[in-house]
Amino acid sequence: MSDCIFCKIVRGEIPCARVYEDDHVLAFDDIHPMAPAHVVIIPKKHIATLMDIDTEKNNIMNHLIAAAQKVAKVKGIDARGFRTAINCNVEGGQVVFHLHMHVLGGRKLQDELG
Ligand code: 5GP
Ligand code: ZN
Repeated sequence: MSDCIFCKIVRGEIPCARVYEDDHVLAFDDIHPMAPAHVVIIPKKHIATLMDIDTEKNNIMNHLIAAAQKVAKVKGIDARGFRTAINCNVEGGQVVFHLHMHVLGGRKLQDELG
């Protein structure tokens, strides 16, 4: 996906503030943080939306969850608490069509999901 903004971040064509990386995922600070800690975790392979995950063939959710745990520790919000969110398609609030999990924390979160 040559023009996908998150694929460009994976390829290093757009800079990011990297929080965590392994063979499967990359996590970086959101450019417009909604909380003191706001990290976006993406699969390195382009998957457009939650609906495009083949759960039988692809264990990407396990990698995203494992990365969320690591990100929470790096940001010091693992014990205090945090929220994960995956927006899917337009009415779900998805703007970037490369699957990503938001990790939000660092303050008491209210009902900000919709
Ligand atoms: P969505 O609304 O698609 O779930 O969330 C996309 C998120 O990606 C938004 O929170 C937005 O601020 C973030 N974002 C979009 N472009 C960039 C970028 O170039 N760099 C970083 N670090 N975050 C981005
Ligand atoms: Zn992409």
